[in-house]
Amino acid sequence: MRIIATVEEMQQVANEIRLQQKKICIIPTMGYFHEGHLSLVRIGKQNADIIVTTIFVNPAQFAPSEDFNNYPRNIERDKRLAESCGVDILFIPSVDEIYPRDYKTFIEVEQLTEVLEGKFRSTHFRGVTTVVAKLFNIIKPHVAIFGQKDAQQAIVIKKMVRDLNYGIDIAIAPIVRESDGLAMSSRNVYLNITERTESLILFQSLQLAKHLIENGERSCTKIISEMTKLITSKPSAKIDYISIADSETLKEYLALHSADRVLISLAVRIGKTRLIDNTLITI
Ligand code: AMP
Repeated sequence: MRIIATVEEMQQVANEIRLQQKKICIIPTMGYFHEGHLSLVRIGKQNADIIVTTIFVNPAQFAPSEDFNNYPRNIERDKRLAESCGVDILFIPSVDEIYPRDYKTFIEVEQLTEVLEGKFRSTHFRGVTTVVAKLFNIIKPHVAIFGQKDAQQAIVIKKMVRDLNYGIDIAIAPIVRESDGLAMSSRNVYLNITERTESLILFQSLQLAKHLIENGERSCTKIISEMTKLITSKPSAKIDYISIADSETLKEYLALHSADRVLISLAVRIGKTRLIDNTLITI
């Protein structure tokens, strides 16, 4: 596995790979790998010749009040895990490499970024789309893999790729969960023992929603109110949002109808840790 730290070297290597007619897959991450990240690599390997995984904790997608400085990092462990999964190139640029002094250009996807996560993290997606666009320009991949865990991010990136004619295939990988149901996330290390137990409430509330829908419930107000009741039964849980929306436009549903493709998503703070989760349902 080759480790690259500079944009110049990454661009040069990517150009050489393209000249060899090989298919490049990019997997953008913020590191501190878990099975969720590694599942993306495995899917990538089935879809391309060369896997480029990037590790960049992107300051532009964190608000000043958020956890950029404390975000968990362990590059040596990440290198070992990436190599064991067959990553070909690990691109680990510094902040100065991606945002040199006097950096001024940002990419914004409208509307889709103004709801859900965007309501609570107003500059988040601007940071995400900017860094992903830069990584696409540096690496020029044929395929990119993102996780369903960040459902809105996947939708926003797909839109950016269409709108800016990137011509990159975007694949979305299913959510990988711990055996008890908690969606894997680098931020799960923040949870203490009590919070770790209470964090299960996100997955359980999604299961409750599914159960209600399977039993004929069609009112979104009713479903959200049952989920809210369940979540707020945990002392450490504070809900940012619960949303039942169209899985492509993110337009909220009031009532569900046959053939609707629905994204049920939520963000809940467990103590100081903000967790997100979601599920897709076709009615
Ligand atoms: P992150 O390092 O958290 O920015 O995540 C990098 C990529 O891995 C994103 O596309 C995430 O959606 C994806 N990802 C993170 N957690 C999971 C998970 N539990 N299951 C599947 N994909 C995930």
